[in-house]
Amino acid sequence: MTSKYIFCTGGVVSSVGKGVTAAAIGRILKARGVKVAIQKLDPYLNVDPGTMSPYQHGEVFVTADGAETDLDLGHYERFIDENLDHTCNVTTGQIYAEVISKERRGDYLGGTIQVIPHITNEIKRRIGLVGQKTSPDVVIVEVGGTVGDIEGQPFFEALRQLRTDVGRDRTLYVHVTFLPYIGATGELKTKPTQHSVRELRGIGIQPQVIVARTDHPVSRELIDKIALFCDVEPQAVIPLPTTDNIYRVPLMLEDAGLGDFIVEQLNLDAAPPALDEWRALVERMGQPYDPLRIGIIGKYVELRDAYISVKEALLHAAVQVGRKLDVEWINSGDLEKGKSLNALESVSGLVVPGGFGYRGIEGKILAAETARTRRVPYLGLCLGMQVMCIEFARNVLGLQDANSTEFESSCQHPVIDLMPNQHHVVNMGGTMRLGHYPCVLTPGSKAAAAYQVEQIQERHRHRFEFNNRYRDVFESGGACFSGLSPDKRLVEIMEFTDHPFMVGSQFHPEFQTRPNRPHPLFLAFIQAAIDYQRLTEER
Ligand code: GLN
Repeated sequence: MTSKYIFCTGGVVSSVGKGVTAAAIGRILKARGVKVAIQKLDPYLNVDPGTMSPYQHGEVFVTADGAETDLDLGHYERFIDENLDHTCNVTTGQIYAEVISKERRGDYLGGTIQVIPHITNEIKRRIGLVGQKTSPDVVIVEVGGTVGDIEGQPFFEALRQLRTDVGRDRTLYVHVTFLPYIGATGELKTKPTQHSVRELRGIGIQPQVIVARTDHPVSRELIDKIALFCDVEPQAVIPLPTTDNIYRVPLMLEDAGLGDFIVEQLNLDAAPPALDEWRALVERMGQPYDPLRIGIIGKYVELRDAYISVKEALLHAAVQVGRKLDVEWINSGDLEKGKSLNALESVSGLVVPGGFGYRGIEGKILAAETARTRRVPYLGLCLGMQVMCIEFARNVLGLQDANSTEFESSCQHPVIDLMPNQHHVVNMGGTMRLGHYPCVLTPGSKAAAAYQVEQIQERHRHRFEFNNRYRDVFESGGACFSGLSPDKRLVEIMEFTDHPFMVGSQFHPEFQTRPNRPHPLFLAFIQAAIDYQRLTEER
């Protein structure tokens, strides 16, 4: 292992932004010219989150090489601006599957297989795989959950062992905790942080940095107290108050001195931090720009994490053109019950993101119909494109029983159908059409105008596709297949010629957006939404 390692663990409570903190550490190092990679270790037993409900897990982020991963990888990519791969998300399920299959092959030569050393060795091997091709200077490894979780123990033990394996001067342990606020006395409390550090020490890990998340300002006195009780240097206690903009976190860590501390501790060959562009970006995000209201229609809208990359992609595009993104979350189930219909009409653009299963589909079809008939800009992402096809088939082409075979296997007009190579798929995990595929754009189309190139690579995650039997009738009805696979057999983008902007992609462009480089399709959509907003204001 030639890289140096930063291990990020969490304490006190989960969901305080450990993933964003890890990503932000990546950004402040990259700003110093340090080459970084990031990995997430997830202690749950699923092999990957691909089969989990969004209620359990939020969005499934897809890497270019087709891994279905934790949504924190989306933060990592957006913050460090590097494409990650399947080595960057490891679960207990993967570790055990590997060890057990080795055992079945007889690789352990009669040995008793144990958590230490066999499971911990496999965890360490996986950590070693990150960045093998890119040789990063620093690999940041985040462990999901909090210290003390039973299922996390082998991971913490592996991290402890790595301190000796890799070398003390080449590893840095960062512990992210939370300081609760007692309203009655108006105080922030450090005791849970002390306990959590004690728990870490019990495993043999002494953190060198404590990032203390909090909803309130932290006094110097409190920082010194944490430093004393947790045995870290006062300059390495980094208070991280809640912010309304996650992209501010790298600046907060930088301004608190964390970048310099890490460089010194790991003896990194680093340039002065170049964060001006990032600072300017965060400033732009805080400008009182005119709002632009965009509707996102989904069945999990009450949990925002389910569509996090979509929201970020919209935000990046809106900021680029000087607008404040105002998302109207519209529940597709409500639309089916005749509720929230006015919400559909109150927005300047509609996005139907990816999804699975029939629940809420008719509501999404209604959204597509509203967009088409009222000429509201529409961006369909994967399922959103399929929904747009079904609506068009039913209401424009008169194919009343049009549907996807995902929702109605024996419908008369299966305009969306299972991909041929999916027919024999038995296992649900990891078997969709996944990851990067090339797509050739049709000259003169809105998609080609947005991308300004002839061929693109985008990330996929689906089993169903547009049914080629319907290509001619769609085309004669006014649909344009503006993106096709290079062999022309798969429809990757569809749009309506006679509409200001109604574009659907079979892929997920939201996985490739960056805060300072918004995705072209989202940018084109946001521009169309601005045009629509102007039109409606003039009316
Ligand atoms: N359920 C659809 C399919 O499998 C769409 C998937 C998605 O939106 N990611 O093709």
